[in-house]
Amino acid sequence: MTEKSYLDSIGENIKRIRYNISEAAVKAGRSPEEVRLMAVTKTVEPVFINRAIECGIDLIGENRVQEFLSKRGELSLENVEAHFIGHLQTNKVRQIIGIVDMIQAVDSVRLAKEISKCSIKQSLTTKILLEVNIGGEESKFGFTPDGLINSVIEIAQFEGIEIKGMMTVPPISENPDSLRSFFSNLRQLFIDIEGKKLDNVNMSILSMGMSEDYVEAVTEGSTMVRVGSAIFGNRNYR
Ligand SMILES: *Cc1c(COP(=O)(O)O)cnc(C)c1O
Repeated sequence: MTEKSYLDSIGENIKRIRYNISEAAVKAGRSPEEVRLMAVTKTVEPVFINRAIECGIDLIGENRVQEFLSKRGELSLENVEAHFIGHLQTNKVRQIIGIVDMIQAVDSVRLAKEISKCSIKQSLTTKILLEVNIGGEESKFGFTPDGLINSVIEIAQFEGIEIKGMMTVPPISENPDSLRSFFSNLRQLFIDIEGKKLDNVNMSILSMGMSEDYVEAVTEGSTMVRVGSAIFGNRNYR
């Protein structure tokens, strides 16, 4: 593919995905405006990320600290939010605080504590989402559904952070029904926790759905889908 046709494909992909999101939302009795589209930009070069931004993307997600820091200067981020969506090691928190608008994959009380500490030091409030391991997979990071509420209560007391919602990466599945049940389980947890009206917990974001399953996620209540390869093509990990 030439660079020009690749650049064109980015805009076409975004248009198609927005259409699919709207269609799934309307079918589920939701308003399409309830769902935000994040472009996941890991491994993507700045010129292509900037094209996605020209095509209306106002939210990007990166999952490696070093990669984001090195690309950031070349990105047109004036009106764009950047979220960190990868697994974050506590020793890297310092480098990313104040640089991203949200840390999505907070997967332990220890990590939340470190984000709190670094945020206080810089007189900032950092918005976070809690990552839930909704399929209970051993290989995955995240809070288990059972342990979540106690962790939320503990984290909600930390200063310098604000819990805005939850995110998940469900188990890989080809079966739309089982995907939907993972997403609907997370939505139920989200509603249960919101219903407890805890101080400093404002459950407004339910970040779920990726290239292969964003339609099912929107059907089940996602408010933010994180889409990479369906926008930029299959990643080339070097
Ligand atoms: C890479 C990544 C995505 C996007 O995955 P695609 O399948 O390329 O859409 C979404 N969320 C997280 C946490 C990721 O690491």
